[in-house]
Amino acid sequence: MPLVAVSACLLGKRVRYDGSHRQHALLLQEIQPYCQLLPLCPEHEMGLGTPRETISLQLVDHQVQLVGNHSKCDYTAKMARYCQVKLGELQRTQVAGFLLKARSPSCAVGSYPHPNHADGLFTAALRLSFPDLPIWEEDQLQSPADCQKFLTQIGAFAP
Ligand code: SF4
Repeated sequence: MPLVAVSACLLGKRVRYDGSHRQHALLLQEIQPYCQLLPLCPEHEMGLGTPRETISLQLVDHQVQLVGNHSKCDYTAKMARYCQVKLGELQRTQVAGFLLKARSPSCAVGSYPHPNHADGLFTAALRLSFPDLPIWEEDQLQSPADCQKFLTQIGAFAP
């Protein structure tokens, strides 16, 4: 079965900043039977742990930075180091596609509400490492037909 890396919170893992999840029922019903799902959570795995402070993308001195909303800590370099290691790991697998959480400063795929940076930082790095693979976010999975389209793109139904 094709390997798909998925934002862990969409799989029901309690890794969001407040220890909650955002389980995506349709993903589990329509995608899981045809794929091997690999959970990942950039913010937890980069060392921020769970629970953690909320973070956001901010423009500082013309550079986009990942900043703690309370501490004002700059986590950009920490995220860059995580991406380097994680993307190296993923490149040694046969990963066929990605399903990520919308509107996250780490995982968003074009939906982060920042005028200069609509992708989360992890997703931006992912696009550079895997330019030919489908990278979808949760909001693109609204119906069983959408799920079939994703499965077709990752070759789940290839002979
Ligand atoms: S959106 Fe991404 S970084 Fe945030 S909890 Fe989900 S997997 Fe972790």
